[in-house]
Amino acid sequence: MDLGIKGKNVLITASSKGIGRASAEGFAAEGCNVAICSRNKDELLNTSEEIKKKYGIEPVWCICDLNSSKDIENTIETVTKQFGSIDILVNNCGGPESGNFQQLSEKNWQEAFEQVLLSAVRFCNLVAPGMILNEWGRIINITSVSVKQPIDNLMLSNSLRTGLIGFAKTLSNEVAKFNITVNNVAPGYTLTNRIYDLAVNRAKLSDKSHEEVLVDMAKEIPINRLASPDEIASVVVFLGSRQASYVTGNTIQVDGGLVKGMY
Ligand code: NAD
Repeated sequence: MDLGIKGKNVLITASSKGIGRASAEGFAAEGCNVAICSRNKDELLNTSEEIKKKYGIEPVWCICDLNSSKDIENTIETVTKQFGSIDILVNNCGGPESGNFQQLSEKNWQEAFEQVLLSAVRFCNLVAPGMILNEWGRIINITSVSVKQPIDNLMLSNSLRTGLIGFAKTLSNEVAKFNITVNNVAPGYTLTNRIYDLAVNRAKLSDKSHEEVLVDMAKEIPINRLASPDEIASVVVFLGSRQASYVTGNTIQVDGGLVKGMY
C-alpha cells in the first residue's frame, strides 16, 4: 500500500537504535526525507550509513541530548535548514531510570521529566508553527504500555508518560483544524537494548538470570513472544501516513495483547 508520504520531511528523535531507528527506516522505505538524532556521534554515523545503503537516501543527523533545550533548538535549526520544513515529527526518547518510589531521587524525577515529557513539548513548540502554516502535519509520540497498565518498578515511566498522553490529547484538539494529527504509540516488550537493561534489572531483584526474565516476559504476552522494533515502527509509520488523516488524539497499543484491560 502506498502510504502517500513520499518526499515528506520526517524528524525522529532518539533514533540511533531500537524503535526510533526502526521508525526512521520505515519512513525511509516510504521515500521520505529522514532526520535522526541522539547523543552519540559514532552511533549516528553508523545508523545513517546503514540507512543510506539500504534505502538510497542520506539521512540528516544531529547530536542531541533530549535533556538539553539548546541541543533541541540546534537540531530543529539544522533539520529545517536542510529540509525547509518538518512534516512529520516522531517524539521518541530514552527509557527513564527504573526504580520504585523509595529508590528514586528528586534528580531522577527531574531528569526523567525533561527526557520523557519536556523534550516532546519542546520539539512540538518548535515544529508545530511550521505545520500550522503548511496546514498539514503528523506528530507521533512513542510511549509505553505503562500508560495503560503500570509496570512494576517503573515509577518514572508510569508517572511521566501519562503526562505526555494528556499533553498530546490536548494538543490534538488545538491543532486538528490545521490537518495536524497527534497520536501516541504504546509499545509492549520489544527486543531492543532497553528491554535487555530492564531484564538485567529485574534479574537482580529475583533469583533468575536475565535470559529467564525475558522468557517470563514472553509468557505474559498472548502472542507468546516479544516484539521486533519494526513491528512497532509499522504502526508509527501508518500514523504518519495520509491514510491516517482521521485518527487523532489516540494512543495505540502495539503489545501482542499484553495489556489485559479492554480500553
Ligand atoms: P533503545 O535503548 O534501544 O534506544 C533508545 C534510543 O534513545 C537510542 O538511540 C539512544 O541513543 C537514545 N537516547 C537515550 N537517551 C537519550 C538522550 N538523553 N538524548 C537523546 N537520545 C537519547 O530503546 P527502545 O527500546 O528503542 O525504546 C524507545 C522508547 O520506547 C523508550 O522510551 C522506551 O522506554 C520505550 N519503550 C520500550 C519498550 C521495550 O520493550 N523496548 C517498551 C515500552 C516502551
